[in-house]
Amino acid sequence: MLHLPIGRWRDWIPADCPGCGRRQGGQGLCAACLASLRPDPARPCCGRCAHPLDEVGGCPDCGPEPPAYDRVVAAFDYAGLGRDLIRDYKIRRRLSLARPLADLLVRAVLAGEAGNPRPDWVVPVPARRESLRRRGFSPPAEVARLLARRLGLRCHLDGVRRMREGERQAVLDRALRLRAQVGVFTAFGAAGRPHPAPPAHRALSGSAADSARPLSGRRIAVVDDVLTTGATLQAVASALKEAGAVRVEGWVLARAVSPGSGRDGGRGRGRVLQ
Ligand SMILES: [Zn+2]
Ligand SMILES: [Zn+2]
Repeated sequence: MLHLPIGRWRDWIPADCPGCGRRQGGQGLCAACLASLRPDPARPCCGRCAHPLDEVGGCPDCGPEPPAYDRVVAAFDYAGLGRDLIRDYKIRRRLSLARPLADLLVRAVLAGEAGNPRPDWVVPVPARRESLRRRGFSPPAEVARLLARRLGLRCHLDGVRRMREGERQAVLDRALRLRAQVGVFTAFGAAGRPHPAPPAHRALSGSAADSARPLSGRRIAVVDDVLTTGATLQAVASALKEAGAVRVEGWVLARAVSPGSGRDGGRGRGRVLQ
């Protein structure tokens, strides 16, 4: 008698591909959908924010000042099937997509792991209260939890908190987005932020939990669903570094692309879901 973990049995059960709807011999996306989502490895990308550099010369999302984050890993472009999957996950509230989407991000993280130190913690971008109420779940938090488990990393769901709601990003241009995000987030261990409740505190474990600045010297991976201009990631990374983090990476499902640099000409950029 075979004794396989439930996760392994699930891989054998036929199911409809969440990308194209065709029945296949396992769970998750079919091989054709996976292939269509894979970014072209030969395409030049910005070393910081992962924006494609073809046809636009310099990076449109990185100004003269280096951002607070050190690197971005994106599983796929916010275009075509990638955009459809994000919409299904966020608008149609298909929570069952969290696992295949997390798997795609795991694949991207592992592919780009060489030469990059592993983070100490995985932390999701906290959802806006109104979005949480509407959806009933936090899209970044669900992915962060599953991804951390797959990679054997510690996940701290409350590592970053919203101090205020901030304006909806979709209606603002980049400069306004950056300005609107100032002071929105605070990180665990930041001055003035109360210590978390005992269960979350215990989850940190080790010497970090005893320190007055638990993020001090830590490397953090911030998980989000879509990266548009990087304004949210910039604000979260700033908060984490102010609290002592030494390295912050953005791990995102989808990377919005400028017109001309994406498979669909970047039609989705600037109107990314909140
Ligand atoms: Zn498919
Ligand atoms: Zn860039």
